[in-house]
Amino acid sequence: MSFDYVRELPSPDHLKELLPVSRATAEMREARVDLIKKVISGDYERLLLIIGPCSADNEEAVVDYISRLAKVQEKVADKILIVPRVYTNKPRTTGAGYKGMMHQPDPSKKPNAFEGIKAIRHMHIRVMEETGLVAADEMLYPDNFAFLDDVLGYVAVGARSVENQQHRLTCSAVDIPVGMKNGTGGDVEIMFNAIKAAQASHDFIFRGWEVSSSGNPYAHAVLRGGVNDKGMTIPNYHFEDLQWIGSQYEALGVQHPAIIIDTNHSNSGKKYEQQPRIASEVMHSMRYDPLVKKLVKGFMIESYIEPGAQKIEDHRIYGKSITDPCLGWRETEAMIYEMAEKL
Ligand code: PEP
Ligand code: MN
Repeated sequence: MSFDYVRELPSPDHLKELLPVSRATAEMREARVDLIKKVISGDYERLLLIIGPCSADNEEAVVDYISRLAKVQEKVADKILIVPRVYTNKPRTTGAGYKGMMHQPDPSKKPNAFEGIKAIRHMHIRVMEETGLVAADEMLYPDNFAFLDDVLGYVAVGARSVENQQHRLTCSAVDIPVGMKNGTGGDVEIMFNAIKAAQASHDFIFRGWEVSSSGNPYAHAVLRGGVNDKGMTIPNYHFEDLQWIGSQYEALGVQHPAIIIDTNHSNSGKKYEQQPRIASEVMHSMRYDPLVKKLVKGFMIESYIEPGAQKIEDHRIYGKSITDPCLGWRETEAMIYEMAEKL
């Protein structure tokens, strides 16, 4: 192979020595993970809100944003459980563009994964220590999960990865809830197969080892809409979608069937400002139909400090997304209070 071997990265164990999690923070995280699991299993009645920027591009802005979320979390604690999105790896449709903090710790500079893996672990630890919240990230590269397995509260497998065997097998060893997205074409069968695979035990190869896993009973569904063969956006959050997908899901016979609705991506057609309306429609469906209420456990929402998105070349406005457009803070805060009122 003709790689240019740029730098050897530290092992996950070495990185954990360099950037350790204190005992108090580890205990706080465990308690939080336990609550997230209980929401998925139906043993803790809260609406799960996985919310934050499309990409965590700047530690200061991300911690600022999540500190604001933490204040809101205190006020709605009896109704809503907030898990901030701290997404450090971005899948790119054509391979071009910003691949996230892990590859490019400074979006205006060249890639530097050696600094990137330190930067993302540092950011996740800082989020826990300064806000008391425990974040969600995306598993884009299964091997790299080992760098973050003790700092996350939730992990999602994206629409472009969910059919991949190594993602599915790795998720069967993960001990936090894993959200499996439907495929980019809207296929929910791919998502159901991923849930089944992750819930089962497997023998496979991981980071140079032959390993065996015990299965993850908290692997569940995330609906993000799809794009059909004519390039049209087809949402899957409407009442009929939820009834149909819900009945299929019940028939699968997996543990803890649960659905999270992604309100952006192909559900909003990236019309980010539609997200509160979409969430509100789903909450109406939940009130209307007990099956929908039982299955839908929460939302994944793309939100940051400033509304919309900017081009990475600009990257000037603090707290404004450089990937998918996000709801701004003002609208986000109002939306969360409105959700709490309706619950
Ligand atoms: C995301 O959550 O930002 C994302 C890339 O989602 P999806 O995999 O659904 O496109
Ligand atoms: Mn996104």
